[in-house]
Amino acid sequence: MRIEQVTIHRYEIPLEEPFVTALKPIPELERVFVEVETDDGVVGLGEGAPAYEVTGETQGSTAAVLEDVLAPQVLGENPVDVERVTRQMRALVDGAPSAHAAIEIALQDIRGKCAGLPLFRLLGGNATEATIDVPKVLSIKSPEEMVADALEAVEEGYEQLKIKVGTDPATDGERVSAIAEAVPSEISLKVDANQGWGDAKTALRAIKGIAEFVDVVEQPVAKANVDDLAFLRERVDVPVMPDESVETANDAVDLVKRGAGDIYNIKLMKTGGITEATRLNAVAAADGRPTQLGSMVEGHIGTAAGVHFVAAFENVVWNEMVGPFMTTEGITDLDTNVPRITVEGPGLGVSVDRNRLRSLRSGRAVVE
Ligand SMILES: [Mg+2]
Repeated sequence: MRIEQVTIHRYEIPLEEPFVTALKPIPELERVFVEVETDDGVVGLGEGAPAYEVTGETQGSTAAVLEDVLAPQVLGENPVDVERVTRQMRALVDGAPSAHAAIEIALQDIRGKCAGLPLFRLLGGNATEATIDVPKVLSIKSPEEMVADALEAVEEGYEQLKIKVGTDPATDGERVSAIAEAVPSEISLKVDANQGWGDAKTALRAIKGIAEFVDVVEQPVAKANVDDLAFLRERVDVPVMPDESVETANDAVDLVKRGAGDIYNIKLMKTGGITEATRLNAVAAADGRPTQLGSMVEGHIGTAAGVHFVAAFENVVWNEMVGPFMTTEGITDLDTNVPRITVEGPGLGVSVDRNRLRSLRSGRAVVE
């Protein structure tokens, strides 16, 4: 079996409302969807969800890397040889993880389809079905508005709330304590500062103000300040979760050596796909640590890949595959019912709705 054609689609997904983190406000999702076609007629689906504030990539740069370099490189290759094909892609293009992920996820979809197995069974097979419950992510707003959003989410059926913070410790403390007082005590609360507290002392003050209410504090300090993560871990009672500080398996090795994380936030769009994410997860597992499979707010295809990853491995204890619930439409038949996502069938287990793809698409390139 050989790869004969790669089609790269640019498309935009409208959000229910703009998504606001300490990094930037996002008005709509600009995504890249890839179809990898083989001479056997098997088609693999992949997605790139670039986030320039994290990896320096845009929709345009991702589509360009795919069209100019990665897609021509994989033509003629056997798509099930994922280890070799992805190694060759990495040798050619350093960085650009969303572009790598778009192809890599499509190759994994083909592997699953050829094997007649849902991807999670092929990757690991921890769970008996590919179904996950996701949290509601609350954008940064005033404490009063965030309480209203939290209550609405609980009413909708969410059992976990991820609270975006990272402006100043005093207001962040008001946000978290007001939400904690308003929602039932069994609702799990997590906070993500997206590096917003900057230095260790500011972060320490912020965390001490909210530690009693939350199950985890994510990326309290700037990405490069790995020693500050270790400093904080020794001084607070709540688990610390690096996100921006850990993109690859190599980063995880460094963080493990420096004692800088209690739980690691893996994202397929940081690792460049499932192969490297599996390595990162193995580093955490070998250190006795759980992980979360986070997201860059992917569309349906990246989300389906995430659901399989979560279901594949025992130590992936949390997830944030929230994309389908933040958007008004998607390009597949993905089965979503707040707060649950289920995928079934060989490979990723999703199929594309051509009409919806056409209505959202802003560009298309075919490499053959
Ligand atoms: Mg994060």
